[in-house]
Amino acid sequence: MIAPYLGNPKKTIEVLQKYDFVFQKKFGQNFLIDTHVLEKIISAAEITKDDFVLEIGPGIGTMTQYLAYAAREVVAVEIDKALIPILEDTLQEYSNVTVLNEDILKVDIKKLADEHNNGKPIKVVANLPYYITTPIIMGLFEGEVPIESITVMVQKEVADRMQVGPGTKEYGALSLAVQYYAEPYIVANVPANCFMPRPKVGSAVIRLTRHAAPPVEVIDEKLMFRIIRASFNQRRKTLANGLNNSSELSFGKEEIQRVIKACGFPEGIRGEALTLEQFAALTNEFKSK
Ligand code: SAM
Repeated sequence: MIAPYLGNPKKTIEVLQKYDFVFQKKFGQNFLIDTHVLEKIISAAEITKDDFVLEIGPGIGTMTQYLAYAAREVVAVEIDKALIPILEDTLQEYSNVTVLNEDILKVDIKKLADEHNNGKPIKVVANLPYYITTPIIMGLFEGEVPIESITVMVQKEVADRMQVGPGTKEYGALSLAVQYYAEPYIVANVPANCFMPRPKVGSAVIRLTRHAAPPVEVIDEKLMFRIIRASFNQRRKTLANGLNNSSELSFGKEEIQRVIKACGFPEGIRGEALTLEQFAALTNEFKSK
């Protein structure tokens, strides 16, 4: 297998010109053209020759070459059919890669893990299309997919939101969902000039390492996430009002007040002040009756 060779502006332009490739804005296409960033992603993902890796959005195959070189096997899912002949070309030397021309949001990833990794936890690595970051990540965690880690390039602001705790303006439903399932670690901030074309927003690589078991015990996971969404839907309202006004919940005012008191929270507390542990305690208290 030959060493990866695509991760620079010259080679990328050569490939794009050879195929008259036109960037599709609607697919969030910003291709990586920086070797250091590519190496950092591969090293943060800790890929070995034992690993099966799922890549989301291979583009022209720049990172796919690195993944194929480091892993046992790679499946890369690309929505843009114009990229398929390009990938056939750039990945011809890499026999351990399968490219699927599909929308990742419609792929049965559990089946991929069953077929290619005996159902064992997989590693996901991607320079994500930013317009669907949250549905991709939540789909991976909330589905039945066995996941070991997710190492991805995302919008910097989104990486921050995944990592923070209460008391910051970035803290929200995404922070709590990600932290319930995984340990987030921001690997690097990545400037716009590492991509072609340059994105208008800052980017960061984040690694999410799946918890062996959730860090809190909650009787009804789905209810906890409904409560979390209700609390952040109306950020500037009190927790009691947020829960009362939610269309996803049907607790009465008195019940809400009883639970808030039983948890030892002040009456006027806002949802944004609660930790994951406190949301779990709140949920368990609602379920206690
Ligand atoms: N991995 C390449 C790189 O780093 O140079 C390209 C990354 S680019 C930010 C995102 C890629 O995801 C594009 O190739 C785009 O066509 C693809 N994509 C966008 N939406 C997708 C979807 N729903 N399913 C699969 N791939 C998608």
